[in-house]
Amino acid sequence: MGFGVGLAGAFPPRTPVLARRLGRHALGAPPTARATQTQKTEQTHMSTPAFSLCVYCGSRPGADPQHAQAAQALGQWIGSRGGQLVYGGGRNGLMGITALATRHSGGRVVGVIPSSLVEREWANHDCDELLVVETMHERKRIMAERSDAFLALPGGIGTFEEFFEVWTWRQLGYHDKPVGLLNLGGYYDAMLTFLNGSVREGFMNDGQMGLIRVDTQAIALAEQLVQAAGFAPEGISPQI
Ligand code: AMP
Repeated sequence: MGFGVGLAGAFPPRTPVLARRLGRHALGAPPTARATQTQKTEQTHMSTPAFSLCVYCGSRPGADPQHAQAAQALGQWIGSRGGQLVYGGGRNGLMGITALATRHSGGRVVGVIPSSLVEREWANHDCDELLVVETMHERKRIMAERSDAFLALPGGIGTFEEFFEVWTWRQLGYHDKPVGLLNLGGYYDAMLTFLNGSVREGFMNDGQMGLIRVDTQAIALAEQLVQAAGFAPEGISPQI
């Protein structure tokens, strides 16, 4: 089943096969020209990134500086491994930090942002590709299609929503890409406790919990996800 099928008609039916098996671009056919503007700030040296990692994270930096440090380290890792970051296209908070670090380290950055948020979230015009779309649904669909794996860093309700959606899409079989949650400094402890309680209460099961990878180390988790997605380029190392 393709992305969006069954989601209350939110998206048109798409190719009925699992996304990762088709490759990251197979479901990523360009959105309609009318709906989307693409800005390419410059051609980068990278024609085909080693992998494409979708990062969901806060549009704020958070109170604890370790979150910003982790976002920066993650961006550096993506760039240093020749990867591509797919993210929400903003310049604020952890989103902006991750994007800047990726690009400064030689990685490719794809930002996807609804037109209504271009001003509010300070759209990052320094992306290699900035896709300005009409709706939030289109944003999330394109981010999912253009990625090999998903990683949620600490964030707020936008991050929660994106993480839960891509997780539920995974359990429904809309894609088979790895999904990770960075529990940095125990940020997600309470949520994980709640989710495990839901298993005990019989509303979830261990199989669903097993669909997400949780780690406290950003780089270790990113490596797990990229490798699980089948992308293990030479040069991947345990830490930077
Ligand atoms: P936050 O985690 O709330 O700081 O938001 C992080 C990102 O999630 C921002 O780019 C928001 O635009 C985005 N966001 C906010 N609400 C939603 C939503 N309902 N669905 C998807 N993304 C959202």
